[in-house]
Amino acid sequence: MLVKEHRDIHRQFKVMFEREGLDRIEERLSILEAFLGTETHLTGAELTKILNEKGMSLSEGFVAENLRLFSRYGFAQEKKFTGQVPRYEHRHLGRHHDHLICVRCGMILEFYSPEIEALQTEVARRMGFHDLQHQMEIYGLCSKCLQKREPAIPLTMASAGERVQIIGFAGGGGMERRLTGMGLSRGTDVEVIKSSGPGPLIVASGETRIALGYGMAKHILVSMIQNVK
Ligand SMILES: [Zn+2]
Ligand SMILES: [Zn+2]
Ligand SMILES: [Zn+2]
Repeated sequence: MLVKEHRDIHRQFKVMFEREGLDRIEERLSILEAFLGTETHLTGAELTKILNEKGMSLSEGFVAENLRLFSRYGFAQEKKFTGQVPRYEHRHLGRHHDHLICVRCGMILEFYSPEIEALQTEVARRMGFHDLQHQMEIYGLCSKCLQKREPAIPLTMASAGERVQIIGFAGGGGMERRLTGMGLSRGTDVEVIKSSGPGPLIVASGETRIALGYGMAKHILVSMIQNVK
């Protein structure tokens, strides 16, 4: 962000919050300053760490409270990406971008496509809808995580939303017969519906959902199916 733009935000913030009668204005300004000095999508914990490294010992609760405050007043934008704690980024007035989120390492990439933007407005318009704002989030695997992937992984290591192919079984013929009997034979394509959290792992094969205990799922070896476009 431009230095001048930062200075304007700083000034607007001071005027606004002094008028609101807020306490600890100087500390809040330091938090804003540190926030504006970054160019990523930060969590409250990450910003607290940055402040601590600068020699300011502020509690994570106070930092998080200020990030929410900045969002409410339009200085920051809160982002709630699926599977992640809230993150905050700068809010550049009049500018817009969308996000790619890696479900494996959590990396966030920004993009702006005039074609997609125009198409979204057009889709809305055709339905008699006037669009005001939108958020486009594409979840997947970043190039680094794609490279790091082993050709075959246990099903328990696949992420929700991934399409994988069953390429083998660990644990002998008995396990293979049992799983094949459940519709999970070699060569079957499945979509991972739920891969973490309590309860069984859920996969879908065609229209059928299949629940698998962790002990069984770890015996199924899969490889990822690349999206063919
Ligand atoms: Zn967009
Ligand atoms: Zn990644
Ligand atoms: Zn962003």
